[in-house]
Amino acid sequence: MEPIKLINGPIADYHAYKDEIKAAIDRVLESGWYILGSETSSFEREFAGYLGLGYGIGVGSGTEALHLCLLACGIGNGDEVVTVSHTAVATVAAIELCGATPVLVDIDPETYTIDPAQLAKAVTRKTKAVIPVHLYGHPADMKSITAIAKDHGLYVIEDCAQSHGASYGGRMTGGWGDIAAFSFYPTKNMGALGDGGFIATSRPELAEKARMLREYGWRQRYMSEIAGFNSRLDELQSAVLRVKLAHLDEGNDKRIAVARQYDQLLAGSGLVLPREKWGVRHVYHQYVIRSRQRDALKAYLKGHGVDALIHYPVPVHLQQAYRGRIKCQGKLAMTEEICHEILSLPMHPHLTSDQVEKISALIRNFPE
Ligand SMILES: *Cc1c(COP(=O)(O)O)cnc(C)c1O
Repeated sequence: MEPIKLINGPIADYHAYKDEIKAAIDRVLESGWYILGSETSSFEREFAGYLGLGYGIGVGSGTEALHLCLLACGIGNGDEVVTVSHTAVATVAAIELCGATPVLVDIDPETYTIDPAQLAKAVTRKTKAVIPVHLYGHPADMKSITAIAKDHGLYVIEDCAQSHGASYGGRMTGGWGDIAAFSFYPTKNMGALGDGGFIATSRPELAEKARMLREYGWRQRYMSEIAGFNSRLDELQSAVLRVKLAHLDEGNDKRIAVARQYDQLLAGSGLVLPREKWGVRHVYHQYVIRSRQRDALKAYLKGHGVDALIHYPVPVHLQQAYRGRIKCQGKLAMTEEICHEILSLPMHPHLTSDQVEKISALIRNFPE
C-alpha cells in the first residue's frame, strides 16, 4: 500500500482560514497596539460569552491559566489539590507552582477522566481544590465531582485545555466549576499561532483577582496592589483566536464526524474504541484507541506514513521529576494499565473521509 499523506491540524487550520487569519494579523500590525488592546478585550468578551460565563481573561499559556486560577482561589503552601496522573504534566506543574501539594488519583476506565470515588477517598483536612481534566475532549463526571466538592468545601478548577466547546448536561465545560483554565497551544481544538491561555469564570471576585495577577497585581496601571506576574495574551494571538472561535463549533462537528467514521470502520476490529457517556458533547481533541499490541501497531502505522501519538506514554507520578515524591491516592491501577495500550489516531477537522478510510483499512489489515 502507498504511504498515506497527511498534514497536521495547525497547518490544515491555517490553510482553511488563511484569508481571515491574514486580515486579522494585518489589522493588528496596522493598529500599532500589540499588548492588551481591543482585540484581546473583544476576544475575552466573545469567548466568555460563548461559554455562557460573565468573565474571561486572556493569559500567556494554559499552564499559567491553571496557576493563576489556583492563586485566585487563594491556594498555596500547605494546601492539597486533587487531580489525575493521566494528564499533561502541566496540570500537576501548575499545582506545584503555587506552592500547594498535588494529590493524584486514578481514572474512570471508560472516559479516562477522574474517578469521583477516588476523589472522595483522597480528600483530607488539607484539601482545598480539585482539578478535573476533560481529557481528550470528553467531559469529566461533573455532577459527581461538584457534589463531592460541595460536601467538602472544595474549589473546582476545570482544566479545559482539551475541551473547548465540549458540554456535559447541556452546560459547557468551564461552566461547571468555580473557575476554568484553557490552553490555545496550536494543536488544541482552538489553537493560536503560538502560546496562549484563558481563564473563565462567573465569579466576579475570582475574575478580578486573576486579572490583577496576570499583570503585576495592577487594578490601575503602575499600582501593584498584590504581587503579580506578567502573563498576557497578545493582540496578534487574540485577533487570530477571534477567527478560530468563529469556526470552533464547525471544527468540533467535523471532529465528531471523523470519530463516527472511525467508530464505524473500526467496529469489530478487537480494539477498544472511545466511549461517550450519555448527555455529553465529546469534542474529540484526540481519538484514543486501546490495543495490547500498541507499540507494534504504532510502528506499523508509522511505516505507512501515519503518525499516531501517545497521550501520554508515562503518567505524571512515574515521571522522573515526580516519581517517589508525589502523593497518590492508593495504586493508580487503571492509569498504569492503559498507558501501555493507548494510541491517538490522526484527528483534526480537516481530515478527509478518504484519509480516515485509508487509515482505518490500514489498521484493520494490521497483522496481529
Ligand atoms: C495543553 C495542556 C495544558 C497546558 O497548556 P499549555 O498552553 O501548553 O501551557 C494543560 N492541561 C492539559 C490537559 C493540556 O492538554
